Amino acid sequence: MDFRLSEEELEFKQMAREFAEKRLYPRALEFDEEEITPPELIKECAELGYFGFTVPEEYGGLGLSSTAFMGVLEELCSACAGFGIMLSVHTSLTCEIIRLYGSEDLKQRYLPAMAAGEKIGAYCVTEPNAGTDLASLSATAVDKGDHYVVNGTKTFVTNAGYADVLIVFAKTDPDGGHGGISCFVIDKNTEGVVLGQPEKKCGLRASDTREISFSDVRVPKENLCGEVDKGFYIAVNILNSGRIGVSFQAVGIAQAAFDEALKYSKERVQFGQPIANFQAIQFKLADMATQVEAARLMAYRAVRMKDAGQPYHREASMAKLFATRMAGFVCNEAVQIHGGYGYIKEYPVERYFRDARAVGLYEGTSEAQQMVISRDLLKE
Ligand SMILES: Cc1cc2nc3c(=O)[nH]c(=O)nc-3n(C[C@H](O)[C@H](O)[C@H](O)COP(=O)(O)OP(=O)(O)OC[C@H]3O[C@@H](n4cnc5c(N)ncnc54)[C@H](O)[C@@H]3O)c2cc1C
Repeated sequence: MDFRLSEEELEFKQMAREFAEKRLYPRALEFDEEEITPPELIKECAELGYFGFTVPEEYGGLGLSSTAFMGVLEELCSACAGFGIMLSVHTSLTCEIIRLYGSEDLKQRYLPAMAAGEKIGAYCVTEPNAGTDLASLSATAVDKGDHYVVNGTKTFVTNAGYADVLIVFAKTDPDGGHGGISCFVIDKNTEGVVLGQPEKKCGLRASDTREISFSDVRVPKENLCGEVDKGFYIAVNILNSGRIGVSFQAVGIAQAAFDEALKYSKERVQFGQPIANFQAIQFKLADMATQVEAARLMAYRAVRMKDAGQPYHREASMAKLFATRMAGFVCNEAVQIHGGYGYIKEYPVERYFRDARAVGLYEGTSEAQQMVISRDLLKE
């Protein structure tokens, strides 16, 4: 398989790097400390077309490949991962669900505004008592003829504070287990949708994460996405694809931590010479660079398979498992190379270290990836 990027893919990656270096990186610590996703940068990203990257042109998007988008995501996450995951959830989860499973009416009504960045998406599946075990969710959607009435609480919703379009999973058949879940597109401003306070997170603090509760929320029948009772498969399929995005988030964070460590090792003098002269530091750098590269290749393999229309769920889970562990290892080593300074906010590796901790938790924990991979291996 050819892992080289096409000229067009490289061009988008380069443009994203310029945007990330100029607009995100210099203020990333401020966004982290103040826990904000700056609206003016959301607008700038929208002008670059990033909110509709993979949305077909007929619905106002750029209609580009997932591979091209992953290059962009890696660059944004290198500069400010909290900002990057906002775009990742909007594009890879919410726009993709409507594109792949929505009726023509849903696509016409939602995708153009979402592709333009005028409406932002959020993905609501996790509940206080249903995390890895998605099938045990307890939100309900009761059929009332021409509409459903949705009740329940969703936790850890990324983008909740500024999202307009919520993709919500709820039970339409309470006794149906995973076969009784359906997927809905719900406007956040609908009566009965109540937003919680922002969660105080360890990392990815530029992203907004909250609880959202639904109290007798009336959802028109036309806002059912995909078939009734088939929502579990939508959630699982979209998470397979989302996992590739998380792999690239991890690669972006780790690459940035490595770059900082490399630079610092040449500047920091101890025993009369730069610490980069010590073999212990050189070997750390060699291991870190090798791990980042291996994770990137695994992630590109998965996304190329996706774009080629091949089955890719095992490769996506392997890429996520490896890349997210790799990010933890690389960021930890980057702090180590910085010595005590790596533990101080003035040095970006402190933020990367915190951000990297999250990527093995969402869109399926590392253990969830191990379940997917081992189940697949044992089936053979
Ligand atoms: C920053 C962040 C952003 C998020 N964004 C979103 C979002 O936008 N939308 C959304 O819906 N959710 C979101 N989540 C939620 C995330 O997807 C869940 O936290 C995740 O699925 C794990 O669920 P849980 O936290 O309930 O952990 P649990 O499922 O309770 O798991 C606890 C531990 O037990 C392990 N475990 C569970 N079951 C098994 C098993 N069968 N075998 C072995 N080990 C097992 C897990 O791997 C984990 O280590 C986000 C979370 C974070 C931290």
